[in-house]
Amino acid sequence: MLECRPVTKVLQNLLDLQSVDVRLHEVRARLAALPKKIAEVDARVATGKSALEQSKAAQLTTIKERKRYELDVEQWKERVRKYRDQTSQVKTNEAYKALQHEVEMAEAEIAKAEDRLLEQMVNAEEYDRRVKASEKDLKEVEEAARGQRAKIDAEKAAAEKDIAALEAERARAIAGIPENLLDHYDRIVRKHNGIALAEVRNEKCGACGMIVRPHVIQEMRRAKGDDELFHCETCTRILYYIEPSESGAPGSGPAQQASASAAVHGECCGLPPDMNRAAKTPPHASARLFSDSSPAGPPSGVHVANIDGASRGNPGPAAYAVVMRDPDGKIILELGKKLGRDTNNVAEYYALLAALDYAATHDIRALRIRSDSELLVRQMQGRYKVKSPDLKPLYERASKLTRQFEYFVIEHVRRESNREADALANLALDSGAFGPPASTAAPRTEAPAVRPSSHPPRIRARFVKGVFVPASPVELPEDTEVLLDIRNIQNK
Ligand SMILES: [Zn+2]
Repeated sequence: MLECRPVTKVLQNLLDLQSVDVRLHEVRARLAALPKKIAEVDARVATGKSALEQSKAAQLTTIKERKRYELDVEQWKERVRKYRDQTSQVKTNEAYKALQHEVEMAEAEIAKAEDRLLEQMVNAEEYDRRVKASEKDLKEVEEAARGQRAKIDAEKAAAEKDIAALEAERARAIAGIPENLLDHYDRIVRKHNGIALAEVRNEKCGACGMIVRPHVIQEMRRAKGDDELFHCETCTRILYYIEPSESGAPGSGPAQQASASAAVHGECCGLPPDMNRAAKTPPHASARLFSDSSPAGPPSGVHVANIDGASRGNPGPAAYAVVMRDPDGKIILELGKKLGRDTNNVAEYYALLAALDYAATHDIRALRIRSDSELLVRQMQGRYKVKSPDLKPLYERASKLTRQFEYFVIEHVRRESNREADALANLALDSGAFGPPASTAAPRTEAPAVRPSSHPPRIRARFVKGVFVPASPVELPEDTEVLLDIRNIQNK
């Protein structure tokens, strides 16, 4: 069933190197984004400080004005007293009238100054309130900033640790590559923003999408020697070819996957024992999914979903789970749903569909899926065929959904890196469903995919950009016409 894959030892080393380099690129991009985050935090604190300074300055101005008007009032009152004293001493009626006029003028000035004084007193209250509010705001901003800086520091430390580990991994990877070949690889990497190797799939270069001529593919399939490299005639990347191998029978669990994989690399190709390590860590999925359309690597703002399916008995009672994080690492979805009697693989696909549905209905444009199911990942990457009639409709729907994203990557992680989703799936098996009810795959009750029934199936759907997006997978042949009976059940 499994054919020997004509990936030579040198190519495998280069693929390992590329896998490390892609991850290094990602971690370095994460690290490089941190100073901007710190600057943003600092800017928020600076804005708070400047707001407080402005409030205080306005408060001070009011206090000064108030003193000035108080002084004005006193001076005018003093003049009124002086004129009144003079009134008792005047001899003529004209002089008396003139003084009376002065008194009236001064009293008018007093009234004006008192009005302004009153105005300033009202202002002072407002400015006192503003200063207090600014002080409170600044305190909150500074407190939040402390938390944010600590988080950024932790991110920095984690990224630096990842880089150190990846650099060690890189050193191991390059140990098996001759120097001239390494130079060659570096040149292509520089030219193509990190991706020097491209898989030949469907007779096309996996990176630039141009046709690879049949005789080149024939030669690649024949080539078993370490020295022979083939290049894409269009983009000049180094090509590799993996013989498609079927492993899609339901029930083939990760253990069988691993041993099959080890057989391919270990026994069949006669690789030294250290290559078995490489076999267990297959090339990073992103390597293949990078393309010229996104030359600078993944866009910023990638959501990450860890998914898992579980079945007790396989087939038996099954459940699936999704843990989705936003680009800042904040969990935005924790979902666990019980299925009927199903296989592990079916449950894995339900988890994938739930994650894709959620992302599609929440305007998420860039998504990375992490799964510990090698079968699911390799099938979604097009490396394994999907023959199982149980999986085929699920696979087709998932593939269709992935095309809606601007950036989509699915990658295999070890079981221990998928603990959260694994725990949620088991919790769902024990306790039933939890998580948001809308826009995620609803539990399927009983097994058969298409079941004749006296009751028509009823599903929820969301209307997005003129298209109905079903909340649970709909297993219908392509182009089937259905009758929609629309009821608004908006639940928000
Ligand atoms: Zn190419």
